[in-house]
Amino acid sequence: MRYIDNTFLDIPDNWEERATEASRKLLAEERTADQLSQVWRDLKTCLSNASHRRCWYCESTINRSDNAVDHYRPKGTVKTGRLHEDGLRIDTTDIEPVHNGYIWKTFSLDNFRYSCDHCNEYRKDLEGTSGGKWNYFPLVREERRAYNAQNERFEIPVLLDPCKALDWQLISYDSNGKPFSRFEKGAEEDIKVRFSIRLLHLDQRGLNEGRRSCWNLVNPTLRDAKHWFLEKLNENPEADHNFQNELIKLKQWLNPKNPASYIGFVRYKLRNDKDRDIHPWIDILLGDIQ
Ligand SMILES: [Zn+2]
Repeated sequence: MRYIDNTFLDIPDNWEERATEASRKLLAEERTADQLSQVWRDLKTCLSNASHRRCWYCESTINRSDNAVDHYRPKGTVKTGRLHEDGLRIDTTDIEPVHNGYIWKTFSLDNFRYSCDHCNEYRKDLEGTSGGKWNYFPLVREERRAYNAQNERFEIPVLLDPCKALDWQLISYDSNGKPFSRFEKGAEEDIKVRFSIRLLHLDQRGLNEGRRSCWNLVNPTLRDAKHWFLEKLNENPEADHNFQNELIKLKQWLNPKNPASYIGFVRYKLRNDKDRDIHPWIDILLGDIQ
């Protein structure tokens, strides 16, 4: 996961008028959400453009999907649950009173996330892990569940949100590219991270492998950049030229247009680099990117 700025989307002409009209029909019960789904499907291209065809939750490339527009707050009957002790499954619990969906968010631009099928739909893979957010929308405090737009601001969603500036930074990764929680067990951040890993299936084997292979390509460049930076301090005459070249390569791995990069993971690795204090340029590099 990495931050996605969804405030400057290049939406189709007249989309907002169509969304307002669709919302009116839905609230008046003249049409169902499914009958009006073309309205959000028409955003697929602009949402995809914001992330260069990558899933906003897991950063995998989405080639073709009918269900790529996810409603962060579900439009259908909301589900919640408790994460099982082993972190591998969710025990569904009831919501009282039953929540028929965040109807008022069905056509709300800030509620859409571009999502791959693995993150969006419930499924179980061959390694026995399962995930997919579906209509799950757990809250840190269930008693603050909003049944109308006015109370929405009191909710603290458990599901990490790529459109919040800091959420994605809560996820840690081990050397195999597998995500984990670095927080004290049971703390709010711990619940958010572990639940999100499960709901979004962020520990799927293919994703872990993708992150690892990406780092196998980034790491030699990082090593070379460090080498030439120290050589610069030693006044080696060719050092600056070589250092700048390595920086260009590193920046390419931090560029959202790079289809082979997992930017959230690369940023995590750089932020946790043990040599950051003697290589201040790493901080500058991290500050350069979005
Ligand atoms: Zn995904």
